[in-house]
Amino acid sequence: MTATKPQQHNKGPTREDSAGSRRQQAIEIAAMGTVYLNGEFVAAEAASISPMDRGFIFGDGIYEVVPVFGGRLFRPGQHLQRLRNSLGAIGLENPLTDSQWASVLQRLVDDAGTDDQYVYLQVTRGVAPRNHAFPDNARPTVFAYAQRMNYATATSAATGIAVITAEDIRWRRCDIKSTALLAAVMLRQQAAESGADEAILVRDGLVTEGAASNVFLVRDDTVVTPPKGPLILAGITRDLVLELAQQHDMPLIERAVKENELATAHEIWIASSTNEIKPVIRIDGATVGSGGPGPVFARMYQHYQDYKRAFCEGRVD
Ligand code: PLP
Repeated sequence: MTATKPQQHNKGPTREDSAGSRRQQAIEIAAMGTVYLNGEFVAAEAASISPMDRGFIFGDGIYEVVPVFGGRLFRPGQHLQRLRNSLGAIGLENPLTDSQWASVLQRLVDDAGTDDQYVYLQVTRGVAPRNHAFPDNARPTVFAYAQRMNYATATSAATGIAVITAEDIRWRRCDIKSTALLAAVMLRQQAAESGADEAILVRDGLVTEGAASNVFLVRDDTVVTPPKGPLILAGITRDLVLELAQQHDMPLIERAVKENELATAHEIWIASSTNEIKPVIRIDGATVGSGGPGPVFARMYQHYQDYKRAFCEGRVD
C-alpha cells in the first residue's frame, strides 16, 4: 500500500511559519536592548521573572505607556499620577518615587537613543503562592522598557482608519489601567478579523471608548466625548485634546454619547498615546462623514502636532 500524502485543507500557518515568526519575535526582543527589572538594567533576553508572579497568574498588576518625543518623556507627571491612581485603586504601594521613575525611564530612553519612542512600565503584586487574596509582604515586580517608534508612519493621519462597534464586555473599573487585558485583546482581535483597526465599545446603548483608545465624535463644529468615570480610562491624550480645544476655541462637550450617534456623526476620531489622534473613516463597513479625515479633525491634528513641536523645542513642558 502506498502512503498518500495528507491533503492540506487548512491554509493556516505551517510549522515552519510558526518557527519563523517565533525566531522573528526573539530577534525583536533582543533588539529591545536593555530593560529595567526589579532595580537592575539587564539585556531584554536575559530578563526573567518567576512563573508564580501574580501578574502572570492573575493579571494582578498595573501598567503605563508614556510617549517619548525628541528624546523626552511626554507628560510624565500625568502618567505617573494615573499610575498612582491605578496602584491605589488595587491596594498596591507605588514601589518608586516619581523622581526614581523619571530617572529609570529616562535612562531607558537614553539607551534606546532615538527621538521618538514609547516607554512601557508595569508593576505587579509580585511572587507568591497562588491564592486570590493579597499575599502578605510580597515584593512588587517592577518592569520597564523603551521601544523605538516612528509616530509619523504609525499614526498617519492622512488616510484614516476603519473600526467596528462591539459590546463593551470589560469589567466596570476601566479607569484602572490593569494589565488584565483579556477583554481588550479579544475585542481588538475581533476588529482585526473584520479588517478593522479598532473596536469602539458600547455599554447599555452608550459609547464608552475604544478597546485601547478614547473616542471623539464631531457633529457640525462641536466635538463630543464621553465623560470620565469608572467605565473609561482617563486618557492622557484625551486630556490634551480637551486642553487644545479650549486653547483654540474649538467647541467641545463631555457628555454621554448614544450608540446611534455614531451613524450620523460627521467625524469620528480615536486618541491614545501611541496612536496620537486618528480619524475614523469607516465604521462597521459604512462610510463616516465625507469618507476622509474631516475639517475639525484636521484642525485638532494640526494643533496637536504644533504642541508636540513646541514640546520638542522646549517651549512647553
Ligand atoms: N482607553 C483605553 C482602554 C486604553 O487602553 C488607552 C491607551 O492604551 C486609552 C484609552 C488612551 O489612553 P492614553 O491617551 O493615556 O494612551
